[in-house]
Amino acid sequence: MNSQCEDKNICLNCRSWLDKLKDKIPLSEGEMTLLKKPKKVFTFAIPVKMDSGEINYFDGYRVQYSDALGPTKGGIRFHHEVHLEEVKMLAFLMALKCSLLGLPFGGAKGGVCCDPSKLSQGELERLSRGFIRAIHSFIGPDIDIPAPDVNTNEQIMAWMVDEYSRIKGKFIPGVITGKPVELGGSLGRNIATALGGAFLLKRMAELEKMNPEQTKVAIQGFGNVGGNMAKILNDWGYKIVAVSNAQGGICSQNSLNIKDLSTGQKDGDLPATAPEQCRPIPNHELLELDCDILIPAAVSHQITKENAAKIKAKIVLEMANAPITPEAEEILFEKGIKVVPDILANAGGVVVSYFEWLQNSSNDYWTEDKAFRKLEEKMNEAFDRVWRLAGEKNYDLRTASQILAVERIIKAERLRGNV
Ligand code: NAD
Repeated sequence: MNSQCEDKNICLNCRSWLDKLKDKIPLSEGEMTLLKKPKKVFTFAIPVKMDSGEINYFDGYRVQYSDALGPTKGGIRFHHEVHLEEVKMLAFLMALKCSLLGLPFGGAKGGVCCDPSKLSQGELERLSRGFIRAIHSFIGPDIDIPAPDVNTNEQIMAWMVDEYSRIKGKFIPGVITGKPVELGGSLGRNIATALGGAFLLKRMAELEKMNPEQTKVAIQGFGNVGGNMAKILNDWGYKIVAVSNAQGGICSQNSLNIKDLSTGQKDGDLPATAPEQCRPIPNHELLELDCDILIPAAVSHQITKENAAKIKAKIVLEMANAPITPEAEEILFEKGIKVVPDILANAGGVVVSYFEWLQNSSNDYWTEDKAFRKLEEKMNEAFDRVWRLAGEKNYDLRTASQILAVERIIKAERLRGNV
């Protein structure tokens, strides 16, 4: 290797995770290097005509981290803190997630550095179409398939698939997932992430002999993932003792009635005043409540070395991406708390995205029931593989998940002759 160029494209976060696995998977130095570098990185400026008539340039990124297992797959986020190193790390996580779930996809991620709350609908549409114009030669149903992520939604996916189809001269729905149903989206995609996590929890509760009616659950975040998770688990008989959003939370000794809380509110909202027999709580208190299962479903780095020792749950289900810092996780493990890692827990969304892509390529559209049945199968298969390896080798569930994911990628790279 040319030593002058050696480390330029390395993903710094991935390097530290992979280094931790070194003594657990036999990988050559070349294999390690391959895993630490994204395959393709695109950075571009997107010119957007603002409503004022002025042209603004937005920084856009797309990282296609690994294509060993198939076309790359991953969302596009619009956020004012998006930067290349973060996009690389998220693309690596997508590669692990797709591999762990046994999907025929590699991993990718994209982003635009912008504050969508300051853009009009027209500006948002021109930005979304501009992203596709910048990247259209490098994406496609068999190359790289974007999807929604933070601050991007079905409408943005609709503009993106339309722009791509206009450029190519025909409708190509399989280039993007997370589309509205009318444009080839899959039934069930909107609750897929939450339902996928709920299936895992059901499996784990059975193994740990936990009875839903006596299992207390606290959920941080009441948006797409947290809100739907609360509704599903409430319907399945679990005791939801607390929920929260960015403004704060509510808790109850008995189970909260989630349907009552959500009535008449838009997604992510909680009632302004706590209902009878409930009390308002600040967010940090929710994390430290006396409960059996804690579900962080909001933002990253919520459980840190400062509060980890106060966590009382027996199981933490990571529905958000990276809600636990590595130092905090060590403390949780010392306390015997089991952590179901993000690459497994929140994979339901990408699994149903895969179903959407399958339906687009076959033109055979599924019922919601079929999508949910297949989702449960996929989640359980992956969970059982992780649980078995963790039991056999005495690994925590994150280590077992990462090992299984990395092994599948490396086997494919070896067969391709890339290492
Ligand atoms: P969302 O925007 O719909 O909801 C986020 C919720 O978190 C809102 O209720 C918000 O008020 C709350 N929140 C924000 N900051 C908070 C804080 N500090 N404390 C408590 N609550 C806070 O987002 P979402 O789609 O539900 O995603 C939630 C998490 O799940 C994110 O980390 C996302 O990356 C991850 N995730 C989502 C999907 C998906 O399909 N939506 C898939 C994989 C991972």
